[in-house]
Amino acid sequence: MSVLEYTPLDEIPIRVQKLRESFHSRKFDPVEVRLRNLRKLYYAIEDNQDVLCQAVEKDLNKPVNETRVLEINIILGDLLFIMENLKSWAKDRRPEAVPLMYKFSGSRVESIPLGTVLVIGTFNYPLSLALQPVIGAIAAGNTVVLKQSEQSPHVSAVLSEILADQMDNELVQCINGGVEETGVLLDQKFDKVFYTGSGTVGKIIAKKCAESLTPCILELGGKSPAFVTAQSKNLDLAAKRIVNAKFVNAGQTCVTVDYCLVEESIYNEFTEYLVKWTKKLYGDANADNYTKIVNGRNVKRILSLLDSTKATVLYSGEHNADERFIHPTLLENVEWHDSTMTDELFAPILPLLKYKSLESAIESVIKNHDTPLALYAFTDSKNESKLIQQRIRSGGFMQNDAVMHVGMPQLPFGGIGTSGYGQYHGHDSFRAFSHERAIIKQPWWTEILLDARYRPISNFDATLARFATVPFKTFARTGKIVSFKSAAFKAVIGIVAMYGLYVGFTSDRDAKLINISF
Ligand code: NAD
Repeated sequence: MSVLEYTPLDEIPIRVQKLRESFHSRKFDPVEVRLRNLRKLYYAIEDNQDVLCQAVEKDLNKPVNETRVLEINIILGDLLFIMENLKSWAKDRRPEAVPLMYKFSGSRVESIPLGTVLVIGTFNYPLSLALQPVIGAIAAGNTVVLKQSEQSPHVSAVLSEILADQMDNELVQCINGGVEETGVLLDQKFDKVFYTGSGTVGKIIAKKCAESLTPCILELGGKSPAFVTAQSKNLDLAAKRIVNAKFVNAGQTCVTVDYCLVEESIYNEFTEYLVKWTKKLYGDANADNYTKIVNGRNVKRILSLLDSTKATVLYSGEHNADERFIHPTLLENVEWHDSTMTDELFAPILPLLKYKSLESAIESVIKNHDTPLALYAFTDSKNESKLIQQRIRSGGFMQNDAVMHVGMPQLPFGGIGTSGYGQYHGHDSFRAFSHERAIIKQPWWTEILLDARYRPISNFDATLARFATVPFKTFARTGKIVSFKSAAFKAVIGIVAMYGLYVGFTSDRDAKLINISF
């Protein structure tokens, strides 16, 4: 019997329908109920962290403490941050700078849940990539279907069992399976789909969602570059941080350093440090103690990249395809058209490219792999860092470090362009699963302010409506800002306003309430 029991196809629509009904009961609306469920989820994870980490170890051979640090801690931190702030995020918000016309209209922005949402997770960080969107969905008052990756079957089985045992089944349900089950799931009507995975499958998901006008969030990958410049004051530490970011989880990290762009003048010094740290941190890596490549198909893909590359191996070790073990490998003399530079590597291989001019290196990134999920600049020059940050659009940016930004729930996480769209973590997880609804509660007496809208609309009405709805502009035709504080400016505005009212008032009075009240 396989580790993961797939959900029978005919059960899927029934289970989704139940979640839709439970959403419409609106019993998960009150913030206190959401918080209670999030607290339950907190203990479900904390109390079962050993068994969850062991499941990751079974799937990926990932050391238990790596999962604790890279997944459990991040999930619990995000969960606590969300719980701490949920009451204030869920409160109605007053709009800013309300014009006179709406001053007394009781306008508010209300965050309402979307309904029943689908979360599709992936294998590389199978706990956080499944649970962090689920946390956001619950916090925002939705009911959730979670479809985890069939490529991490132990985790999917264990987490499904834990959630079924410890969470309200009318709030969250796990559906397990592969492509076929996901296809049936996508045939159901959801109010949002949150997908993490490859761009190829991302396109299938987005197309399917478009058929039913279902909004989706796509958390994809891509080739994230790290620049290492001669202005870096600590090449040794830069190398250590890059080696860690690259080789953790056998390079199967969406925000890993996919490739390194190294300034020519420091290339030899920097690569010496790289080799030193790769040997120190991963020199003893073997099939028993290092994270495995997820499946045989990907091992073949990686070995074929290594076979076809025209680059030179700077450092590597023995690979073991049967054990799905690829030894951390550094490649140098890599060209942009090399086999390792076409697609995201998602492997423990680090291609190194030399550059002479930062400007041209930036141009090459934009030309070959624009809009990466992450962008890293190892430099102590503010100008260089600013240039890289400003010229290349990316999901996230770090100076002098890599990957760490993902662990901060106070920052949004998501891609741009080819690396996806939509963002989550912390407040953004709440926003991702909420709709901001415009609310106006109009008192009857405001008619005196609103009378100008009824036909026929006279010049006076139009002028009055203009003053009541459109604020004064504070810029000239040249685009220059005109100081609103200047007395002359105020005088001009006053005269224009008086003149406008006079022209409107005298040109065509009619029998409207507002005119009578004048
Ligand atoms: P994948 O797209 O193959 O699988 C992800 C999910 O999609 C799984 O649950 C799988 O069952 C489902 N799926 C697969 N094929 C499908 C199909 N034809 N129709 C419907 N559903 C299908 O992704 P993967 O290879 O497991 O993950 C690796 C990719 O994910 C990399 O590109 C990586 O960068 C990216 N990733 C992105 C993030 C992020 O947060 N941005 C995080 C982790 C991984």
